[in-house]
Amino acid sequence: MSVFEPNIEFARNLDLDDPLANFRDRFVINDPDLLYMDGNSLGRLPKQSIQTSEDIIQGQWGKRLIRGWGEGWFDSPERVGAKIARLIGASPDEVIVADSTSVNLFKLVVSALNYQKDRKTLITDNLNFPSDLYILQGVIEHLGSGHKIEVIESSEGIHGPVIDIKQALGLDTALLTLSHVVFKSGFLYDLQELTEAAHQVGALVLWDLSHSVGVVPIDLASAGVDLAVGCTYKYLNGGPGAPAFIYMQRDLQKAFQNPVSGWMGSEKMFDFNLDYHPDPGIRKFLTGTPTILSLSLIEPGVDILLEASIKAVREKSEKQIAYLIKLYNHRLDELGFQLNSPKVPERRGSHISISHPEGWRINRALIDKMNVIPDFRAPDNIRLGVSPLYTRYEDIFHVVERIRKVMVDEIYKNYSHEMPSVT
Ligand SMILES: *Cc1c(COP(=O)(O)O)cnc(C)c1O
Repeated sequence: MSVFEPNIEFARNLDLDDPLANFRDRFVINDPDLLYMDGNSLGRLPKQSIQTSEDIIQGQWGKRLIRGWGEGWFDSPERVGAKIARLIGASPDEVIVADSTSVNLFKLVVSALNYQKDRKTLITDNLNFPSDLYILQGVIEHLGSGHKIEVIESSEGIHGPVIDIKQALGLDTALLTLSHVVFKSGFLYDLQELTEAAHQVGALVLWDLSHSVGVVPIDLASAGVDLAVGCTYKYLNGGPGAPAFIYMQRDLQKAFQNPVSGWMGSEKMFDFNLDYHPDPGIRKFLTGTPTILSLSLIEPGVDILLEASIKAVREKSEKQIAYLIKLYNHRLDELGFQLNSPKVPERRGSHISISHPEGWRINRALIDKMNVIPDFRAPDNIRLGVSPLYTRYEDIFHVVERIRKVMVDEIYKNYSHEMPSVT
């Protein structure tokens, strides 16, 4: 790469050198001027998903009706799970698609606490996704057996409190659960290091991969991870509300029970036995009938990622985030912004957070006037996510220039301080 210059020619040269540049054509891009920096909340629509949805709705549902269950629907939680397994270093029989990330977390946490009978402490951090903390709180209240949650605090809200977590782990720790990439700052935990630390004291580990799957290389097998959950509508581009996945290490599957025991997770569901006998494998973590329409739409996005390779995606993501931070330093830092993400590339996921006392109004102006979609996390963080399959260097250049324009021309002053409920 030639020496960095904060101009459009430099960005265009980076795009010309980009081995993944052609993958952008696999996605629906209706408005080429729109700078979409929120692929870490909802990924773009793969063109293939339009065809797939026509096939599922008209071809399969329309023509095959209930016969569809025997023609691929019934097996789709495992089939799509097996594909996701390839993105996270798991075996095909260790991953299944079901429900939402939050619900799956509930199932796995209850299951893990029941397994770890004599241990009463759950450890997590204050950078975790709020829903994850709500689920933990709900689980211990529901179990009513004296569990407690230790929420280890990050001193500056950016880096995971790794040293303090290691110190907190002990013989009473039943479970350590963390988000692999932190949703606000983009901090990336060393999954192997913390998994080993937890195992040293006999604790189980559950990783939430929602913000890392599809953009960060993950090897659950070599790290010896016990449990994981993750989302499919972010970097996997599975579509709004697409079901999530569950990973459970094979040796644990026999002893772990799904607390939401339904017929789809039973061993011989069509025997219509009145007593529940769970499937011995990962399928026991299913509960009710899978959402076939949205489940089927996960596959096209995962196929694109497998074709591009996570390694290449990560390389581009690191390069793009480094480029974004360089532009930030040249063009935004002096305007009262603060960078709230790790400085070292190895500890970053694929988004950064920048804050400004006027963050909310700047965000409104970007969406309303500048055709930029970032996302906003209270109280004053603007998140900028890079999705290497479709984000161009040129887009990153323009995002920074448009943010600068909002500041220099004081465009944000036309917006109110009031916040609506969905951001
Ligand atoms: C996006 C995300 C979720 C989403 O959970 P849902 O149950 O799908 O609403 C959960 N955890 C993390 C860390 C996330 O980033």
